[in-house]
Amino acid sequence: MDVATTRQPRRIPQRVRGSRRPGWWPDALGAASAASVLIVVALWVHGGNVQALFAGGGSALTSIGRLTGLVAADLLFVQVILMARVPWIERTYGQDRLARWHRLVGFTSINLMLAHVAFITLGYAATAHSSLLPEAWQLVTTYPGMLLATAATAALVMIAVTSVRAARARLRYESWHLLHLYAYLGVGLALPHELWTGAEFVASGAARAYWWFCYIVTVGCILVFRLGLPVWRSIRHDLRVEAVVPESPGVTSIYIRGRQLDRMPVQAGQFFLWRFLGAPGWTRAHPFSLSAAPRPDLLRITVKELGDGSGDVIGIKPGTRVLVEGPYGRLTGQMRRRRHLTMLACGIGITPMRALLESEYYLPGEAVLIYRASSPADLTFYREFEHLARHRGVAVHYLLGRRANDSSWLPSGYGDDLAALRALAPDVSHSDVYVCGPTPWMAAVTDALERASVPSEHIHRETFSW
Ligand SMILES: Cc1cc2nc3c(=O)[nH]c(=O)nc-3n(C[C@H](O)[C@H](O)[C@H](O)COP(=O)(O)OP(=O)(O)OC[C@H]3O[C@@H](n4cnc5c(N)ncnc54)[C@H](O)[C@@H]3O)c2cc1C
Repeated sequence: MDVATTRQPRRIPQRVRGSRRPGWWPDALGAASAASVLIVVALWVHGGNVQALFAGGGSALTSIGRLTGLVAADLLFVQVILMARVPWIERTYGQDRLARWHRLVGFTSINLMLAHVAFITLGYAATAHSSLLPEAWQLVTTYPGMLLATAATAALVMIAVTSVRAARARLRYESWHLLHLYAYLGVGLALPHELWTGAEFVASGAARAYWWFCYIVTVGCILVFRLGLPVWRSIRHDLRVEAVVPESPGVTSIYIRGRQLDRMPVQAGQFFLWRFLGAPGWTRAHPFSLSAAPRPDLLRITVKELGDGSGDVIGIKPGTRVLVEGPYGRLTGQMRRRRHLTMLACGIGITPMRALLESEYYLPGEAVLIYRASSPADLTFYREFEHLARHRGVAVHYLLGRRANDSSWLPSGYGDDLAALRALAPDVSHSDVYVCGPTPWMAAVTDALERASVPSEHIHRETFSW
C-alpha cells in the first residue's frame, strides 16, 4: 500500500491553520489549579483554624492536619484531571508534560496526605491526653468513614511507592499501569471521611456542595474523555485493520481503514492509544504515532517490536476492530511558525516525522530530515523518503552507526555536534525543529539546537516513553 504522495499539500495560511490557543490559555489552566488550592485554604481559614494554630498544643497540630488534608485532597482532583485526557488541557500542554506534572502533583499530594494522617493523630492524642497508638486505633475504628479512608491511604501509598523510579524500573509497564488504576479507588474511598468528619465540610453546606461539585467534575472528566469519547469515536469511525506490512527488521506498518476520518480532529505528528480488539493483550492500550498523513479513510501506524505489547500488535490480522483513545500530542504543523522545517529523528522516532513531511507545506530545499539509525537495515521508510526527496525536494541525511558517546547525538566519526548540525541543516537557526527519539538522545539534540540559537518555542519534541 503506497502512501508516499508526491502532491504538494495546499499552503495553509496561519489564520486558517487555526491559531494556537491564546497565549494566556496555559496560564489560565494553571491559575484554575492554583485557585482550587486557594479555595480549600479559604475553607480552612473560615473554619477557625488560624486561631487554633496560634492556640498551640493539640489544636495547633489538628489545625495543621486539617490544612494538609484539604490541600492533599484538592491536589488529588488536579492529579486525576491532568491525566483525564481532557482535549483542551492535553492540546495545551501535551501528554509528556502532563505526565511529568502528574508525577510532581502526585508525590506532593501523597506527602501532604501522610502529613495529614500524622498531624491529625498527634493533635487528637494531645487534645485527648492519650497516647498515639490507642488514639490512632480509636480514630480508625470509631470515626465515620475512617476505615475506608485507611484503605484509601494504603492504595495511594502503594501507588506512590510503585511509581518511584527505582521501583517502576523493576515492574513491567502493564503491571505498573494496572496497580496505578487503584488510584481511582483511593480517591473514591477518601470521600466519605472528608464529608463525614472533615470539620470544614460538616460545618458548611456550601463547602459540601463545592466538594461534591469537584468530585462530579473529576469523575465526569474520566467518564467522558477516557471512556465515552474513545468508544464513541471508535464506533463512529468504524476502525478496522486493513493490512499489516513488514517495513524493516522488527518493524511493521499497520493500515487502519475507517470512515469519515476527516471528521476526526487528527493531524500528522499525533498519536493515539491503540487497542486491537480480540488480539492478545488487547485490554492494554499502547501509544503509537501516525506514520503517514491521516486520510479520510485510512490511517497508518508503524510499530517496532520492543516487548509483548508491540509484539502482539505486529501479529494482528486484517479485519480486526480497533479501539482508539485520542488523537493526542502537540508535535503537529499547528505549532509551526516558520517556512523552514528541520526534523531530527532517531530509530522508531521517525514515524511522526514521516507523517509531517507528507502533510506539511514547504518549497523544495526548505525541509531537512536528519535520520539517525544504527545500520542501513534499520532504516524504515527508506523508499518513501527517497520519493519525498525526489518529488518534494526534502534534504534527507541518514546518520548511521553507534552513538559516539552518551553526550552526543551523532554516530562516531561525525565530529562536533553543533558543527555537524549546522552543516546538515544550514537553516536550522531559523527553522521550526521537530525532534523525536529516545529521551537521552533528544536531550543531546536539544542541547545542540540551543547552542545553534534555535529559540525553545521553535523546538517541538515528542518522547516515546512517559
Ligand atoms: C507518544 C508515544 C508515541 C509512540 N509512538 C510509537 C510509534 O509510532 N511506533 C513505535 O514502535 N513505538 C511508539 N511508541 C513506543 C511504544 O508505545 C512502546 O514501545 C510500546 O508501548 C512498548 O510496549 P511493549 O509491551 O511492547 O514493551 P514493554 O517491554 O512492555 O515496554 C517497553 C517500553 O515501552 C514503555 N511502554 C510499554 N507499554 C506502554 C504504554 N502502554 N504506554 C506508554 N509506554 C509504554 C515502557 O515504559 C517501556 O519503557 C510511542 C510511545 C509514546 C509514548
